[in-house]
Amino acid sequence: MFIDLISDTVTKPTAKMLQAMFNAKVGDDIFGEDPTINELEQKTAELFGMEAGIFCPSGTMTNQIAIKVHTKPGDDIICAEKAHIYQYEGGGIAFNAGCSVSLIPSDDGKFGVKEFLQRVQPDDIHKPQSTLLEIENTTNKGGGAIWKFEEMKALSVAARENGIAFHMDGARFFNAHVEEKYDLKAVGGLFDSISICLSKGLGAPVGSVLIGSKVFIKQARRIRKVFGGGMRQAGYLAAAGIYALNNNIERLKTDNDRAKELASILSNKPFVKKAYPVHTNILIFQLREEVDDKAFIQSLSDKGVRGILMGKNLIRFVLHLDVSEDHFIELKRILKDL
Ligand SMILES: *Cc1c(COP(=O)(O)O)cnc(C)c1O
Repeated sequence: MFIDLISDTVTKPTAKMLQAMFNAKVGDDIFGEDPTINELEQKTAELFGMEAGIFCPSGTMTNQIAIKVHTKPGDDIICAEKAHIYQYEGGGIAFNAGCSVSLIPSDDGKFGVKEFLQRVQPDDIHKPQSTLLEIENTTNKGGGAIWKFEEMKALSVAARENGIAFHMDGARFFNAHVEEKYDLKAVGGLFDSISICLSKGLGAPVGSVLIGSKVFIKQARRIRKVFGGGMRQAGYLAAAGIYALNNNIERLKTDNDRAKELASILSNKPFVKKAYPVHTNILIFQLREEVDDKAFIQSLSDKGVRGILMGKNLIRFVLHLDVSEDHFIELKRILKDL
């Protein structure tokens, strides 16, 4: 038995998802003629009460398109220091959009209005212009932390007062939603754009959807073409996304609950210095200084469990839908015996 907790991106389509993909009606999406893609884009936008959506190959692309549309070269973007757009998108902020960043340090990847306002540039010709604020819900490097609706709302109000666009990287938004039970249309109303990953906990093999106003999405289509992300009969992939939205949201609660259970096992282990608070399906724990992290990862792997190193002595496990009940029982046994 091999239990892969390296990420929730490792999931493979189930037979039912494959059947939905197999049955998809497709067309050429560059001409706007793929009915399944159109359905997925509309469905995602409507969930959040937004006007339109665009299907893209990856969450990196949906974020990067949003950044490019909301800014012009020389502008400054405000986000958490731990933000995926800054840490894990290959320098795309500079490469694609020619922007600089003002980073907000924080343990869990969250911050408040005060930290945001401190970084808004004054109206001064010496300064770059602050044109975009970005948050991540849930935070990835921040250990899966959840933004409360009121926290997002406060930032939204402050961003609008300053004429700054507000984007949410919602790669794992639904892991937060099953805990918070947000009013999704109210959430949609706070942002100028939201990106949702279908290939994380939702279990689709590929894809992300970016949603926003009609005007924004029209511009996003132009940028997606430039980035080489325009696909043709990709309705087969969109069908997996529709299936995921219809069937795999509620079960994310299981992943969140399991991560908490594992944390409680690990927090009592002598080799663990600290198990970070678990909010959703991401579990990060720190090994004691004297433990060799690479050897630890290797010994876990020899027992059939794969985790990932997120920094010196920091191990991350991510729970997902390909961890079966049997896997989970075995996983708890392995961790208890460590
Ligand atoms: C996974 C992820 C993305 C998108 O990454 P891709 O590898 O392009 O799918 C974006 N933001 C966050 C927070 C993520 O975890």
